[in-house]
Amino acid sequence: MFELSKEILAIQKVAREFARKEVLPRVAEDEKNHAFQRDLVTKMAELDFFGCPIPEEYGGNNMGFLAHTIITEEISKVSGSLRAAFNMQTMGTAREILQFGTEEQKRTYIPKLVSAEWLGCIGITEADAGSDVGGMQTTAERRGDVYVLNGSKNWITYAQVTDVGLIYAYTDPTQRYKGMSTFIVDMHSPGIKTGPTAEKLGWRACPTGEIYFDNVEVPAQNLLGGQENQGFKFVVSGLNNTRLTAAAGALGVSQALIDESVRYAKTRVQFGQAVGQFQMVQEELARMIVETEAARLLVYKSAMQKDAGQLNNTRETVMAKFYASDVASRVADGALRIHGAYGYSSEYPVERLLRDAKLYQLLEGSANICKMVIATDALGYRKANR
Ligand SMILES: Cc1cc2nc3c(=O)[nH]c(=O)nc-3n(C[C@H](O)[C@H](O)[C@H](O)COP(=O)(O)OP(=O)(O)OC[C@H]3O[C@@H](n4cnc5c(N)ncnc54)[C@H](O)[C@@H]3O)c2cc1C
Repeated sequence: MFELSKEILAIQKVAREFARKEVLPRVAEDEKNHAFQRDLVTKMAELDFFGCPIPEEYGGNNMGFLAHTIITEEISKVSGSLRAAFNMQTMGTAREILQFGTEEQKRTYIPKLVSAEWLGCIGITEADAGSDVGGMQTTAERRGDVYVLNGSKNWITYAQVTDVGLIYAYTDPTQRYKGMSTFIVDMHSPGIKTGPTAEKLGWRACPTGEIYFDNVEVPAQNLLGGQENQGFKFVVSGLNNTRLTAAAGALGVSQALIDESVRYAKTRVQFGQAVGQFQMVQEELARMIVETEAARLLVYKSAMQKDAGQLNNTRETVMAKFYASDVASRVADGALRIHGAYGYSSEYPVERLLRDAKLYQLLEGSANICKMVIATDALGYRKANR
């Protein structure tokens, strides 16, 4: 469990080098300018970063979930915005189609997502449907050979730049969770409009927007898996994958904050010595390091379970996501304290990393929702791993 294979160590090195050479020099400027780094997403695809949990016959490299997790962690150390691509191209789209799509859907969409020829998006959230997915209002009505989509989605990553979306809508609005279906939608279809959300705290180089569907015709063969009313099952299963990527992202940002803090504590001199010499700073650092390492073990465990075929490991994945996200916020707080005033300025990366860290407690299931899954499982009210 504690040793990474040679193949994974090799791809970790490639990801680390890519992040250092290609992302780091421009991350601050691109975040400031809200500039989407399409070219870097393409380069990550060329380096085979999006194909780990995807078989070779669909354009992947079959390296598995742990490899995916470790690459995600490396990219997240440098950019939360670019980290999002791992869910848009792989876990929330390609992997979802792999698990539930028809053979034709797999062959048509997965290779183009993994190669980033097409950018993906996941459309679940709506204005009145956040944690309560069942509150969505978007509908899909069957008319002959097409479904007609009406409604809107908000807080959608890549909304303004996406080519293909997995969109969740009610085929039977009277049935709530049992009447939801999933569609693979050509996001350039007539009737689709997009617009940006309000300015975000972090992740500024990652477009987030609203999507409006006005009588959008989607061919019936684009119903995911060819089955109506399975959408909620697909949401739950999809979240069990995207949460692993989010947890890896939280882990990466924690590690980056630790690295920055160590560097700073050794060079910042007060009272005639480096601040790292003060025991209270050491206590803060020690806590950050141990908690991050504990989070890493939870995250890698979830990935390794999936690699061993236990794809329904909701309990362990939610624990990893909850803990890694919580730790990222605490570590960000500690890093800010260690940096003092300089941490509060854009001169050091800590303020950007802190803004990136906060997001993990909100998306892919808020901290409360994660705790609910863990506790209701323990209490025997609702089994998590079904
Ligand atoms: C930058 C960004 C990118 C995103 N990208 C996507 C995307 O690509 N696709 C997509 O579909 N969505 C996306 N989202 C939306 C995200 O998944 C939602 O924010 C998330 O589902 C939570 O919903 P909410 O923010 O509306 O919070 P709410 O559900 O309104 O929750 C508000 C508060 O109430 C708490 N709460 C809610 N219900 C309960 C409960 N039953 N018990 C206890 N506490 C509860 C929550 O924990 C939270 O603290 C994105 C969000 C952000 C910020």
